Amino acid sequence: MSRPLHELGVVEARELLQRREVNARELAAAVLRRVEEVEPRVRAYITVTADLALQQAAEADARLARAEGGLLTGVPVCVKDVLCTAGVRTTAGSRILEGFVPPYDAHVYRRLRAEGAVMVGKGNMDEFAMGSSTENSAYFPTRNPWDLDRVPGGSSGGSAASIVAGEALASVGSDTGGSIRQPASLCGLVGLKPTYGRVSRFGLIAFASSLDQVGPFAMTVRDAARMLRVIAGYDPRDSTSIDRPVPDYEAALGDDLRGLRMGVPREYFVEGMEPGVREAVLRAVGMSGELGAVVDREVSLPSTDHALAVYYILAPSEASSNLARYDGVKYGYSFQAGGSMWEEMEQTRGRGFGDEVKRRIMLGTYALSAGYYDAYYLKAQKVRTRIRHEFEAAFERCDVLVAPTSPTVAFPIGSRVDDPLAMYLSDVCTIPVNIAGLPGVSIPCGFSDGLPVGLQVIGRPFDEATVLRVAYALEQALGVAGRRPAL
Ligand code: GLN
Repeated sequence: MSRPLHELGVVEARELLQRREVNARELAAAVLRRVEEVEPRVRAYITVTADLALQQAAEADARLARAEGGLLTGVPVCVKDVLCTAGVRTTAGSRILEGFVPPYDAHVYRRLRAEGAVMVGKGNMDEFAMGSSTENSAYFPTRNPWDLDRVPGGSSGGSAASIVAGEALASVGSDTGGSIRQPASLCGLVGLKPTYGRVSRFGLIAFASSLDQVGPFAMTVRDAARMLRVIAGYDPRDSTSIDRPVPDYEAALGDDLRGLRMGVPREYFVEGMEPGVREAVLRAVGMSGELGAVVDREVSLPSTDHALAVYYILAPSEASSNLARYDGVKYGYSFQAGGSMWEEMEQTRGRGFGDEVKRRIMLGTYALSAGYYDAYYLKAQKVRTRIRHEFEAAFERCDVLVAPTSPTVAFPIGSRVDDPLAMYLSDVCTIPVNIAGLPGVSIPCGFSDGLPVGLQVIGRPFDEATVLRVAYALEQALGVAGRRPAL
């Protein structure tokens, strides 16, 4: 075999395991060795679960020996630390959950385990998924494997960086406003946010419940398709989960785009977009035409401009409510010095939450307060509906929309931490997709100054199959997928 084990793809590894050309323990050990080697520089994991991984790998080998199936049997994965894992510390990147060991598994983790995946550890992230660089992690920032002085994006920075660095073959993250697609773009891999309702949020530590969605990261579209098939599906424990069959996404992949109507919404080529990003994205659009797609450059989503403002009212409003549960009483960090209940609660939250989380709680509490509710929250809901309608109109003339994922490549660590607005702008191209609840994927489409550029493909609700088909055809034609930095 030409490549080291830790650089195998998901489907590829699964086939080698099936043929017994490699066993799951060897593969897990190889990935864990890689973690030891590069983790001091990359820091993708808050917790590495080495013993558990070896134990799960041994179970996978036993399963393989009995010739039992499993779409991921023996495949080492990283799980964002926002998904509950029974018996394994789950922090959501926050001090307030520093010692929290969940008593139950998130649905997604249970699905991964049911199909035989092996967990390497819990991926680093911005605190409560609030951020675009992983610098808001209460523990440490993760570094971009392409340039260790740059951010990997966020909030699922650990989930993205771990794969590119060879510390996992695939991963799962969560995306509320771009937290899967943007780090996928900045780290040069595939990241998919499914339709709202496609994947259960049970056991996902809530940030903004009407926007949060769990999805996969992988080096290739086929591998992401495999991961999505595993985690998608109805779960009665999440009331927003939709009962629709899960297609075999891999079976839908193909090389050409004949007859596909592809829209290029002009509002997505925003001011401040880097020329290298624009070039790489437009090259991919040109390629789509060659592959047979009918490219429509007249598509317009006029309210795109308002999406960021809507998001920064709705997401903090929901967060302020969701985060009210961290009061130091039932679980998590608790400040106790013999004061009154109120004093201790104040100290617990004051010490347990970081600055960005406090900023969001204040923004949300303000937007929801009597006297301001109509002007902010209600207004934002109305604009949300309008944004959704504009997408619906666009999808009457197009099958998919393509756009940049992020207006810039990975930025230097520290360059945006003191400027929340600059940080928020990282997600201008991804946030509208969450507001409308649509599926979107980011795939590598080129490089600018040696750093990866991502292309975003957005689809109709529950049409992940078409989104993945387009992503796959472009991945084959562009030939930039699967590249890794020397570390
Ligand atoms: N960067 C955005 C925020 O800070 C989106 C984060 C996310 O998708 N979780 O809220």
